[in-house]
Amino acid sequence: MKPRLCKAGIQLREQFDDSFPDRDRTSDGWIADARHLAQGTSDHIPTPDKAIVFAIDVDRDVSGKTKPDLMPDIADQLRILAKTDKRIKYIIFAGKIASAKSLWRWRTYTGINKHDHHCHISFTSKGDQDSSFFQIPLLGATK
Ligand SMILES: [Zn+2]
Repeated sequence: MKPRLCKAGIQLREQFDDSFPDRDRTSDGWIADARHLAQGTSDHIPTPDKAIVFAIDVDRDVSGKTKPDLMPDIADQLRILAKTDKRIKYIIFAGKIASAKSLWRWRTYTGINKHDHHCHISFTSKGDQDSSFFQIPLLGATK
């Protein structure tokens, strides 16, 4: 089976592309590379049953250059939306992680990669059932 990205992952990446067409994509990613595979568990690894990947990495430089640095605000808007949008499982950015476990407050991320150059977003199983628009102000929210 050919691996594919979950529907919510495709939708969110599209919103980044639509809002920031000139963004740097160097640190983008979705499917696990050798580094992820070596770590053993990652939402970048396709699920064994349906070969679905439930995570994306988005390069920090949405402006196509380092300034203005908008990803801290976007990551925070994602975090706030995640309180009600159950498709988001957790977010890692700039040495911090937010998930339902921390009641969507940022806490220190202790993994090897601090995620200074990209934002990691993991999705729940709902992330393949619902491809609706993410209501994120910096990513084209309409309400
Ligand atoms: Zn990642």
